[in-house]
Amino acid sequence: MSYTLVIHGGAGNITPAIMNTQQEAEYTIALKEALVKGTDVLRAGGSATDAVVAAICEMEDNPLFNAGRGSVFTKKGLNEMDAAIMDGSNIAAGAVAGVRNIKNPIKLAREVMLHSGHVLLCNEGAGEFALKQGVEMAPDEYFFNKSRYDQWVEIRDTDYTQLDHKGDNLKGGPVTPNTGHKFGTVGAVACDAMGNIAAGTSTGGMTNKRFSRIGDSPIPGAGTYANKKTCAVSCTGHGEYFLRAVVAYDVSCLMEYKGLSLQEACDVVIKDKLVKMGGEGGLIAVDALGNYNFCFNSAGMYRGMRNSEGKEIVGFYGM
Ligand code: ASP
Repeated sequence: MSYTLVIHGGAGNITPAIMNTQQEAEYTIALKEALVKGTDVLRAGGSATDAVVAAICEMEDNPLFNAGRGSVFTKKGLNEMDAAIMDGSNIAAGAVAGVRNIKNPIKLAREVMLHSGHVLLCNEGAGEFALKQGVEMAPDEYFFNKSRYDQWVEIRDTDYTQLDHKGDNLKGGPVTPNTGHKFGTVGAVACDAMGNIAAGTSTGGMTNKRFSRIGDSPIPGAGTYANKKTCAVSCTGHGEYFLRAVVAYDVSCLMEYKGLSLQEACDVVIKDKLVKMGGEGGLIAVDALGNYNFCFNSAGMYRGMRNSEGKEIVGFYGM
């Protein structure tokens, strides 16, 4: 039985200079646990979609990552989360945006895909749907995280937003120095034993975001995409650029219409087109043959891969 799982925990200014040995160990454990959770599903003959959900739930439950429990704070001091899942076997998609108090937004995204008759639900409406589906909720305290809170306090009186893993504001010069942890959005892509592929992404978005800002993560084709004919992709980075570049679908299109390989398509989009636009970040991708790719134009990306051949990779820094 052949399968592959690839995950990311955010891309950005992730360098040996900002990580100490203990942080490296913490991230290694966290990424390996997510790989184990997802590949347990695949080894048991489960679907790529369920493996993606299992791996992402593990990272949503870990405050190291900007998703679920570790989500960043909005301008109003709230946690508003976005997530999406796509099943490449039938191009089904489910997504939620701006949701609050949902313990695992990726599970709610799967409910939307399977049981709502819609693709994308947002804000209170998505919360109502979560209650109807019996999706697990959590109180505000569950989402409180001191380092994320401090990150927000530093810029809450400004109009700046901040990419969790970047340390620069998105309007002008630096707001906070690039010290501290660099946490990030999470994602997973999988190829299961039946040769089906799936992709999922989950995030708290950007620190100090306002006006119900939504990034690329929950938008099918931008931050998340899966089509068995081509590839499954989950992105992380400055969402406004990934939205405009329709990054995940562009990778798929280059494979479908131009015959590029998975790696070639990822390189064109992330290392050429996105760079020319000024967009920073990366992606993970897998195709239906189990070929996989990590691709980023930032200093680093928390990432991992585990497959049925017993191969396991965990990495943070530039390749
Ligand atoms: N892409 C996410 C967003 O813009 C952020 C991230 O990947 O860290 O909401």
